[in-house]
Amino acid sequence: MKVFDGHNDALLRLWNGGRDGAVDRFRKTETGHIDLDRAKTGGMVGGFFAMFPPPGGTFRMPDFQPPYDYPLPPMLDHDAALPMIEGQLEVFEDIVASGDMVHCRTGLDAERAIEKGQFAAILHMEGAEAISEDLQDLHRLYERGLRSLGPVWSRPTIFGNGVPFRYPSDGNIGPGLTEAGKRLVRECARLGIIVDTAHLNVRGFWDVAEAGLPLVATHSNAHAISPGARNLTDEQLKAIGDTKGMVGLNYGTMFLREDGRALPQEGLESAVRHLTHMIEVVGEDHVGLGSDFDGAPMPAGLSDCSQLPNLITALRDAKFGQALIEKIAYRNWLAFLKRALN
Ligand code: ZN
Repeated sequence: MKVFDGHNDALLRLWNGGRDGAVDRFRKTETGHIDLDRAKTGGMVGGFFAMFPPPGGTFRMPDFQPPYDYPLPPMLDHDAALPMIEGQLEVFEDIVASGDMVHCRTGLDAERAIEKGQFAAILHMEGAEAISEDLQDLHRLYERGLRSLGPVWSRPTIFGNGVPFRYPSDGNIGPGLTEAGKRLVRECARLGIIVDTAHLNVRGFWDVAEAGLPLVATHSNAHAISPGARNLTDEQLKAIGDTKGMVGLNYGTMFLREDGRALPQEGLESAVRHLTHMIEVVGEDHVGLGSDFDGAPMPAGLSDCSQLPNLITALRDAKFGQALIEKIAYRNWLAFLKRALN
């Protein structure tokens, strides 16, 4: 089964290892969750590749012992973020230049690449710290092929506020997009850049809806199953379906598990539960996958992209039909990309 993925952090991992040799490490490596060798084994045919400026200083990812409420990392300033994004973009462009990956600027690009057996990548940026308020960086990044943007990660930016890693909690935390954030979203709509609401708080989510854009959460789950701040309430999920947007299932165990913990022995049953719920609320045409590979702890049986067939088997075992599995695995993302990026 082909799989097109809504979110991964492979570029961050590759950039952390240095630009030299990154192309080879993307072909085959012993570490991380994604390389082309394992993608072939698992049926992964492409996805959204995120550039992400990680928090610096003393910030450490939480240990997810519920109940938890970790403070947001501080704002990262533009001059600190820009070189990190530039470095990850160089790694991305090196891989594309090697011929191993096709940089897709439209949905049709992605569809054609996959038909030809090529690996299809949409360039995404998680957190808009590298964009200054005059939006010149946005235009420059668009020229270099940026087609998807999350205005925030789980920290504030000049554009809005992200949700903290908090459990139990909904994402109804404080003000949404700033005036600059609303301008950013409108400019994305004008240029043809997908706005990703994953990590945005609830108010920010509705601010994106008010801009008239389809609502997309590339790597988020159902709050009704796992009530953490990063997961979406049924009201939000319903709006994703109503606006013909997309939600991608995040495999990170702390977002899957009912109790919000990040235990490695977590199996695939909760992934199936989230998908079942999301299909019921969102509708079967607007749900896909959004692994968070290379960005979150993975469940047992899905420890990297070579194991994607286990997820497909779990869906078959749960009596999902072939046509529905194909939609979830890749068809819905491709149909959405053809609507959103043309
Ligand atoms: Zn994320």
